[in-house]
Amino acid sequence: MRKKIVIGNWKMNKMRSDAIETVKELYAAVGDPSEVEYGVCPPFLYLSELVRENTVGIGAQDVFWKDSGAFTGFTSPAMLKDLGVKYAIIGHSERRGRFGKLEVPESTIGSFAETDETVNLKLKACLAHGLIPIVCVGETLAEREAGKTDSVIGGQISGALAGLSDAELDTLVIAYEPVWAIGTGKVCDAAEANRVCAMIRSCLPASLRGSIRIQYGGSVNPANARELFSQSDIDGGLVGGASLKASDFAEVVRAAI
Ligand code: PEP
Repeated sequence: MRKKIVIGNWKMNKMRSDAIETVKELYAAVGDPSEVEYGVCPPFLYLSELVRENTVGIGAQDVFWKDSGAFTGFTSPAMLKDLGVKYAIIGHSERRGRFGKLEVPESTIGSFAETDETVNLKLKACLAHGLIPIVCVGETLAEREAGKTDSVIGGQISGALAGLSDAELDTLVIAYEPVWAIGTGKVCDAAEANRVCAMIRSCLPASLRGSIRIQYGGSVNPANARELFSQSDIDGGLVGGASLKASDFAEVVRAAI
């Protein structure tokens, strides 16, 4: 039986005091339910303080793969682990330069150049340091309309998992996030999201198919979460906009119970 996991991705939102307040409110509303694991991924600046709250699980929105060295502006998995961070999101579509809603000049897309190879390096580094990796995969609208959803996602999964043994992958969490559903208010139909999550499961090593958790992400909110999370192959959610307000996110987390 897979324990559901619901994680909030705050992206580049919130000032410090609001971040602390939101975590306090969220924990007051949800507490420590045994049925669901949950947490938030705040901006890096707030990780240390939110870990010290010692309430909800705290994750990073990205991670580098080297332990230390001349890598200006990056944060290593060793540093995150040392701080008490539990999760790391890897390969979010916004970091791959694949946006559901383009909010940057197209000429700057090269600044968001996560690839399947960097996802693989980051995944290996997270697993080596005991961080729970949340690897994001998903198709763009153009890829879906061209009938390429399954092949695009299959390629992202095999690229991410390359060279890793079954034993190393046991804590892996995958988030199926159709790019066209992220931040757009256009949620994927629950049956279709479940079909893609089942397809992802079939791409996993046989020994892990029953245990690896696969989240759905893309415009999850308190009104649609229960239907999504009750699907047989959806084990919770990765939630952006609806994780910013504690009362909304608390409802989303409780929808997984
Ligand atoms: C996300 O950022 O991963 C996400 C799913 O965002 P939203 O819930 O706002 O669509």
